[in-house]
Amino acid sequence: MIRKLITRAITRIRGPKGATALVTEAARIGRSSHGIDRDQLSYGGRRVCEVLQENGFEAFVVGGAVRDLLLRRDPKDYDVATNATPEQVKRCFRRARIIGRRFQIVHVVIRDEIIEVTTFRGLHDSETDEHGRVLRDNVFGSQAEDAARRDFTVNALYYNPADETILDYHHGVADLKQKTLRMIGDPAVRYREDPVRMLRAVRLAAKLGLVIDPAARRPIREMSDLIENIPAARLFDEMLKLLTSGHSLQCLKQLRDEGLHHGLLPLLDVILEQPRGEKFVKLALEATDRRVKEDKPISPGFLFATLLWHEVLAQWDKNLKRGERRIPALMAAMDQVLEKQCQKLAITRRIAGDIKEIWMLQPRFESRAGKRPFLLLDQPRYKAAYDFLLLRTASGEVEQELADWWSAFMAAEYDEQQAMLVPDKKGEGDGAKKRRRRRSNNRKGGGDGAGSPEQAPQ
Ligand code: ATP
Ligand code: MG
Repeated sequence: MIRKLITRAITRIRGPKGATALVTEAARIGRSSHGIDRDQLSYGGRRVCEVLQENGFEAFVVGGAVRDLLLRRDPKDYDVATNATPEQVKRCFRRARIIGRRFQIVHVVIRDEIIEVTTFRGLHDSETDEHGRVLRDNVFGSQAEDAARRDFTVNALYYNPADETILDYHHGVADLKQKTLRMIGDPAVRYREDPVRMLRAVRLAAKLGLVIDPAARRPIREMSDLIENIPAARLFDEMLKLLTSGHSLQCLKQLRDEGLHHGLLPLLDVILEQPRGEKFVKLALEATDRRVKEDKPISPGFLFATLLWHEVLAQWDKNLKRGERRIPALMAAMDQVLEKQCQKLAITRRIAGDIKEIWMLQPRFESRAGKRPFLLLDQPRYKAAYDFLLLRTASGEVEQELADWWSAFMAAEYDEQQAMLVPDKKGEGDGAKKRRRRRSNNRKGGGDGAGSPEQAPQ
């Protein structure tokens, strides 16, 4: 049916570095074939197109939103493509900001939505590094050229709310029907231009239940080293998208299958090869996927804290064997792991702070005497730390009894809590004397006084 509507003339033109790029004429697909009503768009997505069109520009919803609507899914966000320049876009809206260096885009804020608006991009004059990675390309072009620059055929669909048609430049609608993720142009060239596309292929396939077309899948294994050239901050963003896609477990499995995980989380291969580490990460990712599906917020700090925890445990153990004291050994292990990880994947300072807080609170769950459990409950990050403890328990790292005690303690009234407290190991009764002793121990380098110093990580 849709195929009948497709009439296209293909012109081949020279792209950057002599690569041949396909610039095609679009198939126009009407409302009755694709079934997307303009009312299905978000208010912001539709409004941005309307305002740009009222100002005499062309404007379309493009990319993931059209793809997701065709799949009858709720789009995560809306992207708009236009022939207006970023400056012209900015002038059309009260709340708009030009961002980005590599690709200039405009963020338009409508109510509580941020719409990403990009100007049609041309194919020429992009600046590349020695590996062929595109460093900058802000040359504007036609809509057909813009379509050819996009990564997958299913992402090169343009929806016009004014007449409810889709412009399909690369058989994207047909590919979507066949559940195929197909690269536009030569996959090897496209991966070289931007190695992030390899990660996008894995993420989109896992998230949308598509099969990566063999031609797009084949080069990934041998080109996986190119991931190393991606700036650490961009890699972090992409990794976060992957982990919060609602299909993180599937994504990580596929990353491993494609040999892509090495450059991303250098520690992940090690973790996944230890049975207990694998179980822990799996449980954490399953929980994350569940939360995404229930529309609950995801804390990146919690996520990375789980992914790296078993590496921290291993490093902590090493530091203890070198004779370091328990808490300083943990703190050093945390820094060592984060530093190693950040060389590849720039975890932002704020998130690194969150990660450390969750880790730091873990030994404190072992103290069930005196005021310490109450002090722990008062910590702002207590809930995250408690959820983390539950994962450690479920993976077999920690005794179930400890988690049960904390669950009961949290739910109990003050009097019951008092009755639940475990007596301090020795010298029960003389609390003041004991607290004095503890304070003096802390001053000697015992850290935050948390946890029983004799107990090593397991
Ligand atoms: P989602 O938003 O659901 O994660 P998406 O495909 O919309 O998926 P975005 O990052 O929002 O992903 O990008 C919007 C569009 O921009 C894509 O659909 C694609 O057309 C284009 N695009 C994004 N990243 C690239 C890239 N690395 N190379 C080529 N085109 C890209
Ligand atoms: Mg998008």
